[in-house]
Amino acid sequence: MENESTGIDRRLLVQSAGAVAGLLALSPRGAAAAATPAPGKGWEWEPMRWVQICATEDDPGRYDPDFWMGLLKRTSTQGVCLSAGGVTAFYPTKVPFHARSPYLGKSDMFGDLTKACKKMGIRVLGRVDPHAMRADALEAHPEWVARGADGAPKKHPTAPDLFLTCPNGGITFDWMPKILKEIASTYPVDGIFGNRWAGSAGICYCGVCKSEFKAASGFDVPLSLANPQAPEVKAYNVWVDEKRYAQLKLWGDVVTGVNPNAFFTPGTWGRLDPVRLRSTIRAVFSDRQGRNGQDPAWLNGRSAKEAYCTMQDRPVSGIFAVGETSTPYRFEDSCQSSAELATYIHDGLAHGFRPWMTKFKAEVFDKRWVPVVEQAYTWHAKHENYFRHTGNLARVAMVQSDQTGTYYVPPATQAAGNREVVPEAAQPRAGNGDYVRGFYQGLVESRIPFNLADERQLEPDYIGRYQVLVLPNVAALSDKQCAQLRDYVEKGGAIVATHETSLYDEWGKPRANFALSELFGCDYAGKTDQRVQNSYLTVHGPHPLTTGFDDAPRIMAGTKLVHVRPHGAVSAPLTLVPSYPDLPMERVFTNVRQTDTPMVFLRNVGKGRVVYFPFDLDRCFWETSNQDHLALLRNAVRWAAGTDQPMMVKGPGMVDVSYWRQKDSVTAHLVNLTNPMAMKGYMREILPMGPYSVSLELPAGRTVKAVRLLEAGIPANTRNEAGRLLVDVPRITVHEVIAVDLA
Ligand SMILES: [Zn+2]
Repeated sequence: MENESTGIDRRLLVQSAGAVAGLLALSPRGAAAAATPAPGKGWEWEPMRWVQICATEDDPGRYDPDFWMGLLKRTSTQGVCLSAGGVTAFYPTKVPFHARSPYLGKSDMFGDLTKACKKMGIRVLGRVDPHAMRADALEAHPEWVARGADGAPKKHPTAPDLFLTCPNGGITFDWMPKILKEIASTYPVDGIFGNRWAGSAGICYCGVCKSEFKAASGFDVPLSLANPQAPEVKAYNVWVDEKRYAQLKLWGDVVTGVNPNAFFTPGTWGRLDPVRLRSTIRAVFSDRQGRNGQDPAWLNGRSAKEAYCTMQDRPVSGIFAVGETSTPYRFEDSCQSSAELATYIHDGLAHGFRPWMTKFKAEVFDKRWVPVVEQAYTWHAKHENYFRHTGNLARVAMVQSDQTGTYYVPPATQAAGNREVVPEAAQPRAGNGDYVRGFYQGLVESRIPFNLADERQLEPDYIGRYQVLVLPNVAALSDKQCAQLRDYVEKGGAIVATHETSLYDEWGKPRANFALSELFGCDYAGKTDQRVQNSYLTVHGPHPLTTGFDDAPRIMAGTKLVHVRPHGAVSAPLTLVPSYPDLPMERVFTNVRQTDTPMVFLRNVGKGRVVYFPFDLDRCFWETSNQDHLALLRNAVRWAAGTDQPMMVKGPGMVDVSYWRQKDSVTAHLVNLTNPMAMKGYMREILPMGPYSVSLELPAGRTVKAVRLLEAGIPANTRNEAGRLLVDVPRITVHEVIAVDLA
């Protein structure tokens, strides 16, 4: 149990917080790999368009290099990612157990493509994937494989001759570095991209994992991560995260050690801390290749916002697949519909992604994706300067909380009375995902430009530029984070919070009261109803918060209710009508027609403003799409902001908006997400929408030289009104950009 060499007091280890603190003390806080170049200086700033050719073992000899070179040229592609090694080597490797593709023969597919691309002036990332290994490697290095709780090697789920690797031992810290070094020193690559770089074995019970985790934490490797409140689960999460930081540092050092201008970059980063990530990685290529029919139409825009939030103003690229990779069945050799593909690409572009197309298998069967990609890329290339952003102009940000996502587990839903079985959608799940999705949808539908703000970056440097921070049931917040939010409000910022925001600490431990109770103007009364049916809000309008439903005496409440005690007398524009029977029809009435229980707290605090809803407004909106809830979310953000948004849009349909600054221009983006199934279905057809009127606030001290519509390809009709620029957009097909050149 004790491990003297770690210097950790065992008594601390039996408490989760102590174990975690011990773990944090164990590993060196990733000192920056190589010196990161100054903003705008490294080569990663150059490529605006990427293509990834993902090879299969039988591609050598079968694929058509001319097809690819032609595509790269026509699309003005400036960066490529080519399959190099890991599971299979596509070059004549000398590293033991690094199996060459059996179809490679004496050829060098990776080397040939790399040289051809470099000749065209294209930057090259070599792709590696360490998640699987072969039987000969297992025999020689039984310590490399991932093992189940029974100690047996984990077989690859789909390739019967392969095994899954353990990401915490020799594969990561000994074998892969040799491959990275070989690739970087043999070929003129600009960097290495890690696919499934953290493996995909789930919990591993190999000797390395068991002994190292025990030494670090005192615990056995947990059998399940289902209960995030278990001390061993918290410790395990911290331990594997520390392994990832160590891996990023090592792999970065290996690549940079060969070539100081090259770097390693991972395709995913999960809950890793953005501040620490930025110390070892220079650019991200975010790997969310497509959406399934249950994902909202704005998914790629959200991925771009997440990447931007992680990397701040550094380059972010978004990977999209032309194949049907996002269904659970992965029909890799079939391609997505043009409408779906175009919309997905453009929603990413609008939110700051540089596009990165990925094609599984270099041999191409179905080429219907080609014109869609060519059209998007040539248009992007033509207007490239309008996509070289120097900043985002949104004044609203949604706080993104990985600790809430990991450690907040709301109590089990209890059906009140004798109600039927609680539907699965209403069952508790860890995290605040549906609250986030609901508020996100509300902001998109309201055409409010917004970014994401990470809970680990709440210093004024990061959030000071925002007028409003939205907290969609951000339940798990540390004392420090709450102090930062209080400070933000005192200095003039505004927050809009819902449900159990701040009622738990960063490890998901319940607090007796909201840590933000001073801001909310109420205390927690010790009870949250998890299943409330047929409850309403009495509307006391007109009020800025009730705009849009002032003519209704009563609107829907939520389905979860936080009991609170106001700090003083409150005159709220919305009060509770408590739940009453919804069956039989003869009993659907209440004698309690009105109460003075406030259902929203609106306050001026310091120089700032606070809106708090003690119920699941955002989550309920995600589930029911109620129009009054949409109005309420929108009104709350507007009241909190106190002033107009920098970009405002009038017109029909659903458009996802963003507003960016470049050196000598600003660009206002409108992506047409109008679809008969916009919330959850695939795009089947592009339905052009319009007309729109867009009102823009312009940077101070600059005058307008020209205004163009980049999709329509025409100058825009504009006029000035009350110091803002009004722009007519007659019609949007997929993605219109209002490009305003500044003198
Ligand atoms: Zn292991």
